[in-house]
Amino acid sequence: MSARWRDLVDRLPVGVHLLAVSKGHPAALIRQLAELGQQDFAESRLQEALPKLKALADLKGLRWHFIGRLQANKVRGVVRSFAVIHSVDSQSLAVRISRIAAEEQCCPEVMLQVKLRDDPTKGGFSQEQLKQVMPDLIELAHLKIIGLMTMAPLELSLEQRGELFRECRDLADQFDLPDCSMGMSSDWPVAIKAGATWLRLGSILFGARLSATRSSVDEINTV
Ligand SMILES: *Cc1c(COP(=O)(O)O)cnc(C)c1O
Repeated sequence: MSARWRDLVDRLPVGVHLLAVSKGHPAALIRQLAELGQQDFAESRLQEALPKLKALADLKGLRWHFIGRLQANKVRGVVRSFAVIHSVDSQSLAVRISRIAAEEQCCPEVMLQVKLRDDPTKGGFSQEQLKQVMPDLIELAHLKIIGLMTMAPLELSLEQRGELFRECRDLADQFDLPDCSMGMSSDWPVAIKAGATWLRLGSILFGARLSATRSSVDEINTV
């Protein structure tokens, strides 16, 4: 894992950050990576993340990013523990995060999740929706909108992913947003070429996730 991490970090252009997606992996592995210098980690489920955050509370410089679908009843927990939320996929969620962040006296950085291709398995703003609601979202006092996040549907080729990521970058530029969270283990090089600033890498870094099956079952049970 250390060699893979070092190799990846050495290949990142200036301005591109590696977000280590630690869902499905134990706190001990996160600690190992943190000791090498990795500070940004991502989780996609609050229930899974909280015990890990607690186990790693002695590590000072860590920044936690939330990248999963965020249910309304989990917003307070996420706002309390996570510095960045990549998966804000509706106006009502954004409004709720801002209201709760005000109560918690914080101001999380957020990325707005966009869906630029049909994909029934994912949420996100369409380009049209985003243009319509952006003026209202910018007014939310306890959100700091720093960028857009997107995911490519599984069936897309690398070339098609590159196109999708470039559209996402163009859209972020139209709104003067600096960040684009895009690119995963299977497509991060094309994401870099398209202008990503945050690569969300899990399996390429940590290996296969052990608890993938259990996670999806838990997900259903907690809805
Ligand atoms: C799990 C996950 C990743 C990481 O996926 P890998 O293919 O393991 O790199 C990235 N983004 C999101 C939103 C995820 O849920």
